[in-house]
Amino acid sequence: MNNFQQAVKKKYKQLLNKVATSDFYKIDLTNRVNCYICPDGHITKTKDVDAGVTPMMHKCGICNKYARSSFFKDIAPEQEPVEEWYRPNLDETLKLSNNSGLLDHVLNGGLLCRKIKRDSEINE
Ligand SMILES: [Zn+2]
Repeated sequence: MNNFQQAVKKKYKQLLNKVATSDFYKIDLTNRVNCYICPDGHITKTKDVDAGVTPMMHKCGICNKYARSSFFKDIAPEQEPVEEWYRPNLDETLKLSNNSGLLDHVLNGGLLCRKIKRDSEINE
């Protein structure tokens, strides 16, 4: 590990400690869904699988325009979440080294987004 990676590792450890102890991260994740609405009215529904910070703006899953957060109001109860927000592990975080904006986001408690695999896709 080089010095930069050592520094990231140290900050990551501090972050996990904060997540474990700070009230800010004591979030009930049971039904933590958010909806992002794009200018065309598409709704991209997401859920948080870790406690952390998610952005106000997110790319629309259908047209790629910027979509705005509903601030955890489930405005599309008929839709299933298609993406989930998660905290990357240390290895994944180290891979963000070439993207300082994203790295800072994660080290400040930010979550990353990934597509949710449907059960049907997993079984196929
Ligand atoms: Zn859209």
